[in-house]
Amino acid sequence: MNPAHDILRIALPVPLPRTFDYLLPRDGCVPPPGTRVEVPFGRSRRIGIVLDSAGASEWPREQLKPVQRVLDSAPLFTPELLASLSRAGEYWCGAIGEVLFGALPSWLREGKAPPRPDDEAWRLTVAGRSALDARSRRGSSAGLLRALAESPLRADELDALLPKWRAASRRLRDAGLIETVVPPARSEWRCKPRAQPLTEEQAKALEGMRADARDPRPWLLEGVTGSGKTEVYLELIERALRAGRQSLVLVPEIGLIPQMLRRLRARFDAPIAVLHSNLAEGDRARAWLSALHGEAAIVLGTRSAAFAPLRRAGLIVIDEEHDASYKQQEGFRYHARDLAVWRAHSLDVPIVLGSATPSLDSLANVETGRYTLLRLRRRVHARPASPVHVLNLRGLRMRHGLSPVLLEALDACIARGEQALVFRNRRGYAPVLLCHACGWHAACPHCERPLTVHRGRARLLCHHCGFAQPLPQSCSQCRTAALIPQGHGTERLEDALRARYPQVPVLRVDRESTRRRDAFEKLLDELAHDKPAILVGTQMLAKGHDLPNLTTVAIVGVDEGLHSVDFRAGEKLAQLIVQVAGRAGRADKPGEVWLQTHMPDHPLLATLLRGGYPAAAQEMLEERRALDLPPFAHMILLRAESVDAAALDAFLDAALRAFPADERVRINGPLPAPMPLRAGRHRAQLLLESGSRAPLRHALSIWWPRLQELSQPRGLRWSVDVDPVDVY
Ligand code: ADP
Ligand code: ZN
Ligand code: ZN
Repeated sequence: MNPAHDILRIALPVPLPRTFDYLLPRDGCVPPPGTRVEVPFGRSRRIGIVLDSAGASEWPREQLKPVQRVLDSAPLFTPELLASLSRAGEYWCGAIGEVLFGALPSWLREGKAPPRPDDEAWRLTVAGRSALDARSRRGSSAGLLRALAESPLRADELDALLPKWRAASRRLRDAGLIETVVPPARSEWRCKPRAQPLTEEQAKALEGMRADARDPRPWLLEGVTGSGKTEVYLELIERALRAGRQSLVLVPEIGLIPQMLRRLRARFDAPIAVLHSNLAEGDRARAWLSALHGEAAIVLGTRSAAFAPLRRAGLIVIDEEHDASYKQQEGFRYHARDLAVWRAHSLDVPIVLGSATPSLDSLANVETGRYTLLRLRRRVHARPASPVHVLNLRGLRMRHGLSPVLLEALDACIARGEQALVFRNRRGYAPVLLCHACGWHAACPHCERPLTVHRGRARLLCHHCGFAQPLPQSCSQCRTAALIPQGHGTERLEDALRARYPQVPVLRVDRESTRRRDAFEKLLDELAHDKPAILVGTQMLAKGHDLPNLTTVAIVGVDEGLHSVDFRAGEKLAQLIVQVAGRAGRADKPGEVWLQTHMPDHPLLATLLRGGYPAAAQEMLEERRALDLPPFAHMILLRAESVDAAALDAFLDAALRAFPADERVRINGPLPAPMPLRAGRHRAQLLLESGSRAPLRHALSIWWPRLQELSQPRGLRWSVDVDPVDVY
């Protein structure tokens, strides 16, 4: 740092898009960028992060106060990460301090000293190995024994694999089945040999990447489920690892971490740092630090792991790149995939975006030459994709929302001793409770939307705001006891299937049934055995998990997606159908997919069946192009909400007036939000669109500071969403 630069620019965790100037601490030490410091702020003290130093301040020097204390002997952010986060803050309209502090694990946010590294690992004793072989333990104890079967594991690794391992470890240690050891040296990075040779397609894809090793463009790896994408990631990670470089691997949700971790563990004998929001504070801080110090060979995590510091970066992998979970939907609304693409660029490392159903955004980037497309067309294990049968429901007599042909298919599947999956993207018993006498339906008093019937819990619930009330016995309008649940949620399907197949386990998988993290793993564990079973569930079922005995997939109730006004609904639906269908017939048994609909000749379904996802995606892209919609246009959405409707209107009108006029930017609104009332708050929005990004960015740079200055009545909340994924 230039010695004449004795003013520090510091980011503080406050919701203001600005930095704060301080003088050097009295002892004259100069904390480098990325270091935490304690500073006086008003009457209190705050932890801040040094961004850089300057020779002058816009404030008079006498008014500046010195930094009180320097907390770290070395920075907690790499220069690249600081730069990327500053850029991200600018792009997605985040206050720099909130962005930086949001990236830090909470342990470090609070100014605590970094936690001590874990100095213990667990392994099986001889008695433990016999207990494992004899299967003498159950539940989380059995899970822990299995987890330790191959190699000792550290606490952070166990945290990621088994939420209840600590309780189990006490029991098992007391029983002499496991013991602690000094963990294997973290510094050693080794690869185990690949079990099978690469397929021709995998080799070709990797060849393409090798040939273009200096090509800075992201690769889009498109391959159906089971085509060996993960194996391609592993190869690339191996290359990085052999060069002593770290790989960052993102998956869209916590539920997918255990299986990715198992694949990584099976292949690499090297420290893996796992980062997600459900970790114990200390473990999260440890994982962050091992990424920062370049100890972790691989950093595996969900969305927020896109903020991980990487001292020796070599590769970034984004699995299931199309998944909307990569976009943060509250607070700082960044997109982890897009952030990762920038970071790869500034780190000068390759990045691979993988998916069976790439987003239209990424496909458009392939078209313009910004991304390079690589395809895996065939499944590794010769099994072709399962045939999809469309069942026309018009005029059919349904039983509990299931058509006769579908029930026959399920009968046959169970008779063969195989497993079936019934997919319905609606939890609860029924989406509406209707009065047969007068037509009244139960609605949320705070949202004016129908309440969902939850029969098991004997409640009506609002899925938008959480409002709950006991299940009424009679109509609140005409008092008749003629209330009937309308439509079918997963709970109702579960009941119906239980009644029809009393001899097989029927397992429901939705947010309700799996509120505990280990419940989902346990359910899947049960299904790993080859006995017949039926799974009923929401899109939680669409992702990842390999169930070898699952052969029949039934998709019911997708018509809502075909009716939706959201221009992204078609894309989401096509992705969901393909992902769910991909669950069928993954191992050595052929699979079959049934899709129930009242719109068998809907163009999207027709194209999807005829040409698969690539054809459907192509068609949807053309449509978006013709209608000037993203990815061919760019959007910024200002959302606001308040209990006071007049205050809301006034704010949005003022926001509209504050917008710098630009004929290249279309302004829609202010308009009521798609849900004009939620949790008792009125909601409205202003949507800005432009065919090119530059005028929109320019306008935003003027508008955003003006918005901060607008008078904001108490209780009014607003946010700016750049590239929103959810406009409706
Ligand atoms: P995806 O990530 O595309 O779903 P995976 O990489 O998980 O595909 O591969 C699907 C299955 O095929 C896995 O069980 C994997 O172990 C196996 N597999 C992948 N590549 C090969 C290969 N080259 N030879 C044999 N089996 C493979
Ligand atoms: Zn009534
Ligand atoms: Zn509500």
